[in-house]
Amino acid sequence: MAVDEFSIIESYFSAIGNNFAELVLGQGDDAAVVDVEAGCQLVVAMDTLVSGVHFSPYCAAADIAHKALAVNLSDLAAMAAAPAWFQLSLTLPEADTDWLEEFAAALNQTATEYDLALIGGDTCRGPLSITIQVAGQVPKGSFVKRRGAQPGDQVVVSGELGNAALGLALQQGTVELPKNLRSRCEQALNRPRPRLELIPFLRANASAAIDISDGLCADLGHILDASDCGATLWREALPVNQWVREREAYEYPLDGGDDYEICCCVPVSKDAAIDAWNDAHAECPLTVVGEINAQGYYLQRPGTRLDLSNQGGYRHFA
Ligand code: ADP
Ligand code: MG
Repeated sequence: MAVDEFSIIESYFSAIGNNFAELVLGQGDDAAVVDVEAGCQLVVAMDTLVSGVHFSPYCAAADIAHKALAVNLSDLAAMAAAPAWFQLSLTLPEADTDWLEEFAAALNQTATEYDLALIGGDTCRGPLSITIQVAGQVPKGSFVKRRGAQPGDQVVVSGELGNAALGLALQQGTVELPKNLRSRCEQALNRPRPRLELIPFLRANASAAIDISDGLCADLGHILDASDCGATLWREALPVNQWVREREAYEYPLDGGDDYEICCCVPVSKDAAIDAWNDAHAECPLTVVGEINAQGYYLQRPGTRLDLSNQGGYRHFA
């Protein structure tokens, strides 16, 4: 890689995404220099995808590139920060030009779509691994944390849950799905859509938020830990596809990973904002799936209530 490092950067990564007003010095020096807009704060996140751990070795370069950026943008969305720039640390087993071309083209497409620039990174040889660091901006103090949920708040999720986990099960051959559902679940797994459109809603209405990367039960659990309160989830209210609902295969939305939807808490006083959002955003529906309590963590199903507070307890319902 040493001989080729600079030509790889120059050929594939020197012009990715959109430039922005606050970029003072981009790629090519020892470090990049950026301004932060007056009155704003910088919000930064980083995620690594390792071949064989986070994606299959057979995964397309384009899907890997999209997902590596999308999962980071999902973290910014959860914090209600608007994306500004990102850095890429790429570890490659070899300088495969076909792979690099496909990877860079998809990365550019996603970066351009979500309006952020690649301002620097690192390139070296080793087992395939992609680390991306993203930075976004928020007007001072208007970021949203995991801490802040209050008893009485409604638990709200975006989109449809469980499809990415179904896509993974399909890929692993552990489930058979009707044809019309297959591509939806594969898309959910390989092409997650970070919910950046929710940023204004979250800033205005959320007491706490998180993105759902490890399943709703685990991720809402992080909000409860940080906020020192409990919750009841209503199983029948979960936004799931018909296949899940008919089979009561609720382990996918509750325990499955990789959805990259947003889970947030909304005070009852802001109730009307949820309906107003849904009237205007059919492609990103919000669903009330439970409520915050003083303590305890439960899943309400018809006739019974399951205690989710024991570690892994939610794995054993069906
Ligand atoms: P240094 O040795 O000073 O750390 P590098 O040789 O690692 O510098 O990088 C040279 C320049 O290229 C830097 O500006 C760096 O941010 C940029 N860069 C390196 N790898 C990548 C990459 N994969 N994507 C974008 N920029 C990169
Ligand atoms: Mg370096």
